[in-house]
Amino acid sequence: MDEVRLKCDVLVIGSGAAGCRAAIEASEHSADVILTAKGVFGKSGTTNLACVVYDAALGHSDPNDSPQIHFEDSVVYSRFLANQELVRIFTWGAPKTVYDLERYGLPWYKTEDGRFYQLNSPGLRYNRGVHYNESTGKKVQTALVRELRRPSRRNVRIVEDLFIYRLLMRDGRVNGAVGFDLQQDRFFVIQAGSTILATGGMGMAYSVTDMEAGACGDGLYLAYEAGADLMDMEMHQFFPTAFVYPESLRGVIVTSSQLWKMGMKLYNDRGERFMARHFPDECEDVPRDILSRRIFMEVAEGRGSPHGGVWADTTDIPAFDDFKKDRPRTYVWKEKFGVKTDRFEVAPTYHYTLGGIRIDAGARTKVPGLFAAGEVTGGIHGANRLAGNALPECMVFGEIAGNNATAECRTELPPDEQQVAMAKSKVLELVSGGEAGEIPYASIFKRTRRLLYDKAGIIRTGESLKEAAREIEEIKGLLPRLRSGAGLSGKFAMARALETEMIVRLGELVINSSLMRTESRGAHFRTDFPETSPAWLKNIVVHWTGEEARYTTTPVELKYLKPGEALRDVKSANLSV
Ligand SMILES: Cc1cc2nc3c(=O)[nH]c(=O)nc-3n(C[C@H](O)[C@H](O)[C@H](O)COP(=O)(O)OP(=O)(O)OC[C@H]3O[C@@H](n4cnc5c(N)ncnc54)[C@H](O)[C@@H]3O)c2cc1C
Repeated sequence: MDEVRLKCDVLVIGSGAAGCRAAIEASEHSADVILTAKGVFGKSGTTNLACVVYDAALGHSDPNDSPQIHFEDSVVYSRFLANQELVRIFTWGAPKTVYDLERYGLPWYKTEDGRFYQLNSPGLRYNRGVHYNESTGKKVQTALVRELRRPSRRNVRIVEDLFIYRLLMRDGRVNGAVGFDLQQDRFFVIQAGSTILATGGMGMAYSVTDMEAGACGDGLYLAYEAGADLMDMEMHQFFPTAFVYPESLRGVIVTSSQLWKMGMKLYNDRGERFMARHFPDECEDVPRDILSRRIFMEVAEGRGSPHGGVWADTTDIPAFDDFKKDRPRTYVWKEKFGVKTDRFEVAPTYHYTLGGIRIDAGARTKVPGLFAAGEVTGGIHGANRLAGNALPECMVFGEIAGNNATAECRTELPPDEQQVAMAKSKVLELVSGGEAGEIPYASIFKRTRRLLYDKAGIIRTGESLKEAAREIEEIKGLLPRLRSGAGLSGKFAMARALETEMIVRLGELVINSSLMRTESRGAHFRTDFPETSPAWLKNIVVHWTGEEARYTTTPVELKYLKPGEALRDVKSANLSV
């Protein structure tokens, strides 16, 4: 394969909301920026899929709201596992990002008097979600792309269809990356003064997900390999209500969580409104983790609908037909697939990666020269994320990462040629030689995803996790024999083969962290340890020593808010399964 050599001040890997915002900020400070996408620029990534709410405590729809309350809601919802300093920065920073996006051209929904029209979602004390119908994510992405295409942003070079799979290091510092072109036969070797990871989450590590097909945890793995800390790897959020039928829609979420507030009811196959059995007052209006678990249990205990879900009933939602017209992507369009929108089957789907790369308040990882922003990071949402908190978090920390990566960039370190050669041969070795004993990546990819969903998913037990640990060990043993195909379509197969290795190695961290956490908290639920334990107000942190994964725990610093002090704490404490 050919080779292209590039050099820049700031390399941004990933061009969803976090990556684009980071690139804009670095450009603002006159850095020479390279911005990459593993796919088409502006189309790849999960940002485009984000549906409705973007939380910012502007207080337009309810003057009682404030960043302080947004902070409290977020920390309580995180089950006190979030890094409170990061949450403080995020919640106080979110309102500004709404105006930034407006400046970039996002036409937010407003009331007739010109104020932002803000929506509520479960866990929010006041209406907080600014939005653009059910296309908020698409509008955020479009506005950022438009800003990056302005002539004044010529210092941002966009390289799309580039799969970055190895970070380069020199003198203990990240100084660039190696990738290959998904369309042409060529490697890219990029020398960078600073590198920002903004590659999104790892939903594809689970067999049912609403995330995009490229979301394999690439950035988490790259950071881990480079020696950065990963944290909260046991924390993964499932969205409770995704279509389960027809098969072509399996895993696609039914927007939005506002429906649970508006009067949507869930029934098991016996016609029982099972949430009323558990929560007579709240019914379906409970946090995502609790609703997901309850649906999962109904199905597991044999009361599920014909295709393995429960029935969502919208007949009692006032003016649902009007609401439906406002949500063509979710309802009107789905009717073309034969879905009856007054009653359909739903089940949980993997939705958001709560854990990730550990960063400080300046979006720095532990490794010099390496920054991270967006869903690839951990610590901001702890054990559970509020609806509408992800996109603004990308904007706030994207800006911080872009700023600090520019200020701290060191451009004089050339690539280590031995590392470049090793990275190239890693890919070339993957191409199938048709030899006996080779294992096609697809079987391992599928097996790992199934394993994580079944044994390290919504409901875990010590036994299932130990079985998962044994199986992932066996799968790891197969990795040296893993092979892709050849030819142009083989580029995607090569990428999938590398992604397979990523999800296997990250899967092991998920399983081991889940085994370590001998309690239940937020998205992590163990039937053998169903209670939340104050002794576990700790983050599990893991890093690669060069030889092995080393796990440690660090107590959460309850810097601004302690359990019992928050207004909503009593209610949320009552809502455990
Ligand atoms: C269905 C759905 C609905 C959602 N709704 C909401 C909502 O209403 N409100 C809200 O706040 N949040 C919502 N979220 C969450 C939110 O969309 C994401 O958390 C957020 O968009 C993540 O943005 P990001 O920039 O971190 O990553 P992404 O947008 O996922 O971007 C990742 C980028 O990295 C690139 N990349 C990945 N790997 C590589 C590699 N190896 N080399 C080069 N490039 C790479 C990708 O191509 C892409 O450009 C929703 C999520 C889903 C799935």
